[in-house]
Amino acid sequence: MSGSAKAGKSKLIKGATGDWEVVIGMEVHAQVSSEAKLFSGASTEFGGEPNNHVSLVDAAMPGMLPVINEECVRQAVRTGLGLKAQINKKSVFDRKNYFYPDLPQGYQISQYLQPVVGEGIVIVDMLDGERIEIGIERLHLEQDAGKSMHDQHPTMSFVDLNRSGVALMEIVSKPDLRSSDEAKAYLTKLRTILRYLGTCDGNMEQGSMRADVNVSVRRPGDEFGTRCEIKNVNSIRFAGQAIEYEARRQIAILEDGGSIDQETRLFDPKNGETRSMRSKEEAHDYRYFPDPDLLPLEFDDVLIEELAASLPELPDDKRQRFIDEFGLKPYDASVLVAEKRSSDFFEVVANGRDGKVAANWVINELFGRLNKEGLDIDSSPVSADQLGGIIDLISKGDISGKIAKDVFEIVWTEGGDPAEIVEAKGLKQVTDTGAIEAIIDDIIANNPDQVEKVKVKPGLMGWFVGQVMKASQGKANPKAVNDILKDKLGL
Ligand code: ADP
Ligand code: MG
Repeated sequence: MSGSAKAGKSKLIKGATGDWEVVIGMEVHAQVSSEAKLFSGASTEFGGEPNNHVSLVDAAMPGMLPVINEECVRQAVRTGLGLKAQINKKSVFDRKNYFYPDLPQGYQISQYLQPVVGEGIVIVDMLDGERIEIGIERLHLEQDAGKSMHDQHPTMSFVDLNRSGVALMEIVSKPDLRSSDEAKAYLTKLRTILRYLGTCDGNMEQGSMRADVNVSVRRPGDEFGTRCEIKNVNSIRFAGQAIEYEARRQIAILEDGGSIDQETRLFDPKNGETRSMRSKEEAHDYRYFPDPDLLPLEFDDVLIEELAASLPELPDDKRQRFIDEFGLKPYDASVLVAEKRSSDFFEVVANGRDGKVAANWVINELFGRLNKEGLDIDSSPVSADQLGGIIDLISKGDISGKIAKDVFEIVWTEGGDPAEIVEAKGLKQVTDTGAIEAIIDDIIANNPDQVEKVKVKPGLMGWFVGQVMKASQGKANPKAVNDILKDKLGL
């Protein structure tokens, strides 16, 4: 675990009176990917007309009984397996009682003392190469609430129950995170795992993944400090900003001789600040008790084994395979597996080719270009086969790496088969040593001064190479150029 002993100096925050360590734990609400809600057959589709996906159960009509959606349970177990977590064959649904206009039951069905999934682990690769392990405390299933709409009418508020009863997984981490960067990387990795598993689409803009971010600060080596919980953060970037602000707010209070009130806060993206929503004294007493309408949730090993056997290859395993099979650098492998579609794309490009070269082209040329244009891999104008074709032309010696970038550009803007483009535009590399020799002889004859200088200043070789490439319009084979130049210049 990334305990304080491992916390590097750079993760500490400088206060006026010395260094502070920030401690973060996350409660992530992930909407279960499923056609129907947790306890009713109503649709979970996003963006429907208000109150169009509401069954009598979701509207809490008297006498309606919840019926568990087995697919949601399978999704929770799959997620537990993906988090290398303890799966509890018996768990209990409880009522969490509170009043809110968008909660027609007057309680939320959740899991409290006996969740379906227990302790697990998420491995997070940091940009600097450090690998940290973040403990998972638990994962439980619960219902989402509806949505109050206060901006539709001057004097009335409306309620949309489309989301009421949709299945959520609450994934609670241990307080193992030590910086906003670690927190952001954790959320990113968790989202990657959920997407690989197909158990949550991870779409934070649509609210299918939201995080409650718990933040406290302490002197390195001290006990944990009092935490504040920042509710419902709906983007990874905002989570980072909220932590940075909140840690400094707490440090300023403590350095001023004050103490931290345990409270619930909200992050305001407009000014990057957190503000108090309610203090612990006003906290609800939810009066949890087992829901008498539902039996305990029980399943056997067969279900767990079946689901385990059908899990897809997960990002950590795929990353290791990319390192072993293609000889990739760990960082490159992490970049490629971050999105399943990117890793699939890479595997098509790398198939039968040099994996490192393929990774270099996918990450630096393709991803670089996609980023610049704000596109994702699905809308890439250059297909995996086209990119593979370009790499083949380089490895056959038909084109240099530099011309390959021009071909990439042509394929990007105009499409087409790379080999045909090279043929049609006469971009083929000149490997004919006679032709290259002729160019070199010409340049040597016309630049006697440079020829004298290069004998004492071998760095000038680059100038000669440049001249030859220019004269050949970039088509001379760079290795042949170097060899012949060295020979003729006597270097
Ligand atoms: P509660 O039962 O009040 O919700 P939990 O113990 O379940 O509290 O913790 C909720 C979340 O807060 C977890 O993600 C946990 O990691 C985190 N957390 C607990 N203590 C701290 C702390 N001192 N600083 C930061 N986060 C904390
Ligand atoms: Mg909690």
